[in-house]
Amino acid sequence: MNRNRISPATADAITRAAEKLRAGQLVGMPTETVYGLAADATNGEAIARIYEAKNRPRFNPLIAHVSDLEMARQLVVFTPEAERLATAFWPGPLTLVLPRRPDCPVSELASAGLDTLAVRCPGHAVARSLIAATGRPLVAPSANPSGAISPTTAQHVADGLGNRVDIILDGGACSVGLESTVIGFDGETPLLLRKGGIGRQEIEAVAGRLGSPAPDAPKASPGMLASHYAPAASLRINAKSPRSGEVYLGFGPDWPADLNLSPTGRLDEAAANLFAYLRRLDASGARAIAVAPIPDKGLGEAINDRLRRAAAPRDLS
Ligand code: AMP
Ligand code: MG
Repeated sequence: MNRNRISPATADAITRAAEKLRAGQLVGMPTETVYGLAADATNGEAIARIYEAKNRPRFNPLIAHVSDLEMARQLVVFTPEAERLATAFWPGPLTLVLPRRPDCPVSELASAGLDTLAVRCPGHAVARSLIAATGRPLVAPSANPSGAISPTTAQHVADGLGNRVDIILDGGACSVGLESTVIGFDGETPLLLRKGGIGRQEIEAVAGRLGSPAPDAPKASPGMLASHYAPAASLRINAKSPRSGEVYLGFGPDWPADLNLSPTGRLDEAAANLFAYLRRLDASGARAIAVAPIPDKGLGEAINDRLRRAAAPRDLS
């Protein structure tokens, strides 16, 4: 079933896949870690479709995959430490979490609202060719339905998500088969955020001793990341109308809003706009933001999850 969506990763198939990515569609992409469900990282609606396809109930930050260090430099600010790690381990299963550049073209949905972006140059030549052919960074979380095991062959992707992608590039079985090691920074000190394909000792041989994220620094800790975008303004959810002193973030045609996540009531558009619009309202100096009800189905579940966290009392965040 769905075998026809699997295509050997020939130059011609890579060109076709790149065209689909530029048009906002999803592609099954081999990497050395696991098969990814790839989308154009600069296209928020395409990223929203990843969450929809995986049926993932929660937005967590995604990794922007780049074809080389030069592409990564256009997205994030490198420190000398980060440069040293990238030079030593790229292409390969090492992800670096760095501050977004002010002109970073990657959608804020990929950062789940954080000021940082995870970047990686994959070791698999097909992945790098696809990124280069697309000419844009690609986000690519594991290509499996949420809760299922990560796919390490093209057939696994077809079995789990075959009807969600037009093309799955077959680049053989993944050589690493484990997720990438994720390194963040506290100033110049590298921190081990997630264990993965490259071991601690190998990294420490290049970067010196790795720190662990402080338990009270939730932004640095992957397990706790999900809680961590909250606006400075207070947030009230499921609000049918604004109260005095509130700015109103609408959804759908019915609400006269200061900003509207999707005037036509599309959840993928709302997901793509969510973090950017919360930031915009926050930056406007508003003290209180009220958000219209969002249907709690499909992508709406992940949107509501994030809104509930942002609305929760600050001692939880
Ligand atoms: P993956 O599961 O391979 O798609 O990688 C995504 C993981 O990378 C997230 O669950 C986090 O653990 C980590 N990550 C991505 N972006 C960030 C970020 N901005 N800050 C900290 N960790 C991140
Ligand atoms: Mg996964």
